[in-house]
Amino acid sequence: MDKQRDFVLRTIEERGVKFVRLWFTDVVGTLKSVALAPAEVEGAFSEGVGFDGSAIEGLARSSEADVLAHPDPTTFQILPWRGEIDPTARMFCDITTPDGQPAVADPRNVLKRALAKANDRGFTFYTHPEIEFYLLKSSELVDGQPVPVDKAGYFDNVPGGTAHDFRRRAVRMLEDLSISVEFSHHEGGPGQNEIDLRYADALTMADNIMTFRTVVKEVAIEQGSYATFMPKPFTDHPGSGMHTHLSLFEGDVNAFYDAGGQYQLSAIGRQFVAGLLRHAPEVTAVTNQFVNSYKRLWGGDEAPSYITWGHNNRSALVRVPLYKPGKGNSARVEYRGLDSAVNPYLGFALLLAAGLKGIEEGYELPPEAEGDVWSLTSAERRALGYDRLPGSLDEALRLMEHSELVAETLGEQVFEYVLLNKRREWNDYRSRVTPFELESNLEIL
Ligand code: GLN
Ligand code: MG
Ligand code: MG
Ligand code: MG
Repeated sequence: MDKQRDFVLRTIEERGVKFVRLWFTDVVGTLKSVALAPAEVEGAFSEGVGFDGSAIEGLARSSEADVLAHPDPTTFQILPWRGEIDPTARMFCDITTPDGQPAVADPRNVLKRALAKANDRGFTFYTHPEIEFYLLKSSELVDGQPVPVDKAGYFDNVPGGTAHDFRRRAVRMLEDLSISVEFSHHEGGPGQNEIDLRYADALTMADNIMTFRTVVKEVAIEQGSYATFMPKPFTDHPGSGMHTHLSLFEGDVNAFYDAGGQYQLSAIGRQFVAGLLRHAPEVTAVTNQFVNSYKRLWGGDEAPSYITWGHNNRSALVRVPLYKPGKGNSARVEYRGLDSAVNPYLGFALLLAAGLKGIEEGYELPPEAEGDVWSLTSAERRALGYDRLPGSLDEALRLMEHSELVAETLGEQVFEYVLLNKRREWNDYRSRVTPFELESNLEIL
């Protein structure tokens, strides 16, 4: 740790860094930032930087408002979009109470607690997300609709296109920040893009996702467009999912791999998937946290609606992907429920807890879904035992309210805050008269 701190202090000096931003994330998943003068960094390492936690969504109750941000020196990076003049760097922070206890409502701490539990059982948790988002001409609506930057579709190569330049620049910047990109392409909707990050341990990845969102937004601004991670900005085009590949390692060994297993998935892997499936309904209010998230989940276009798993089945909630023979360490399972507006710390903590529960309790994996689950009748789905994901934020909250797993993993304070905050969002939404009602009712009623 001291070595890391020294490295940071030295780099600040050598590179002439003028500002050091301290980053952390509120419970909703919004990135917060406070800029320090370089001379303050040493003190920030030893004592932390105090601020009023009750002013940050969900972070602290007003009675325990004072908190401290402690920068994590291993996350030090110079921000490439700020340019060479007056360089700016950032570090992610852990939040504590004034007496040095981890703040229970710090999302990074929620994930750290979940990871420590996995670690007690000898597991390290790795994730890699496929992040979808839309590039729009601006955040302004025209005739009540957002305007995408192009009309292209899946894997389209758009000559001279905005999206192409955009991805090149964004990928370059991510690499400058030590975030490796595996894959990037145009997605199904007009202006929709996807960038897939190379796998990392879940804490690093949650930090990377927060950085990713900032980079994508900054590059869009630089190029005169606007990027949105909203789960479903268009009625007629696909939503933006964040399919995430998950794996557990025991030391250097991938615990999901078994050469003799079905799809080379080990018994532990099967139990983990069984846990994901069984607990999916109760974690959905967090993995899909907005009213708008449910327009994606129930809008078709390869977003999952039913709780099934499959091998090459893009209608399944969990997919066990193919990988090359002899590449046992790439064994993983893909959870397709998350959307791009999830708080990644909380989402990863809950998926891990659900999977571990499956392992702990030895859950049986139900048979895989082979065909397209959407094309079945509801009677057929019932007969096959395929439940559905919650259909609205309201339903998701009702399921979460009774969940011991979610309460335990988030901790009481975050659990209560999410319920309260999201209940407020739902109430606000349901009391509004929408264009849909006016269009379909006004003239005939
Ligand atoms: N956009 C789809 C979703 O919301 C995924 C499309 C794909 O990557 N196959 O999940
Ligand atoms: Mg993909
Ligand atoms: Mg995709
Ligand atoms: Mg995918």
